[in-house]
Amino acid sequence: MIYYKTNEEIELMRESNLLVSKTLAHVAGILKVGITGKNIDKSAEEFIRDNGGIPGFKGYRGFPSTLCMSLNDAVVHGIPSDKVFSDNDVVSIDCGVILNGFYGDAAFSFAFHNVQPEVQKLLKVTRESLYKGIEAVLVGNRIGDISFAIQHYCERIHGYGIVRELVGHGVGKNLHEDPEVPNFGTKGKGPMLKEGIVIAIEPMVNMGSKSVKQMNDGWTILTRDGKPSAHFEHSVAVRKNGPDILSDHSFIDAAVKNNAEILNISINN
Ligand code: MG
Ligand code: MG
Repeated sequence: MIYYKTNEEIELMRESNLLVSKTLAHVAGILKVGITGKNIDKSAEEFIRDNGGIPGFKGYRGFPSTLCMSLNDAVVHGIPSDKVFSDNDVVSIDCGVILNGFYGDAAFSFAFHNVQPEVQKLLKVTRESLYKGIEAVLVGNRIGDISFAIQHYCERIHGYGIVRELVGHGVGKNLHEDPEVPNFGTKGKGPMLKEGIVIAIEPMVNMGSKSVKQMNDGWTILTRDGKPSAHFEHSVAVRKNGPDILSDHSFIDAAVKNNAEILNISINN
């Protein structure tokens, strides 16, 4: 069942998503070669709690950490570890918080300074595809319009593989609500977009094949061919005037600009 949010609830969700965005910006400021994922995760948890929030992922179905941290051929749901980051790593970081009783949910992929241009391009295209999807968030459109826009851009235009097993979702008092928001699909199909629906749109895009497998940690999703994957996510409200993006990647961009170890993945949108 779809929960339609009031304007007041959407403003509360904006606050939750602002905290997510600022947490990801905090992470963008401390990412460096030689630091471990666990160090970053601990700092993110402190940041969230210092700002009055609760980590949204920690303990969710038994997930052990505040952040999902997925390196290189990991697509999503990676667990922060004691491994240190290298100058050619790509890391997708997904963050959820609970604030005011509502979840915020957003993700961003970071490239360390020696990441190859072709992998930088994967990040750029994935990030652009998120906005192609968001452009379709209009009252009267259907979920399939979002799905098609993302799939078309990534697969048809750029030849990448869109993950089928994992999808975006409604978000609110629950982390995962209806409707599902696949990153693949057909124009004009699926649930209709109506005012008050809030969805997390999150393209997961593989440089090679769309096939994935789960690691034996029970969480991490890896590409089957071992090639890199990227993930960007916004929480977006359907409003009568169009999409209202509740999370804000501009905080992250500002932090990346001040971190010489992380490449700026700028896009045209
Ligand atoms: Mg997320
Ligand atoms: Mg999500």
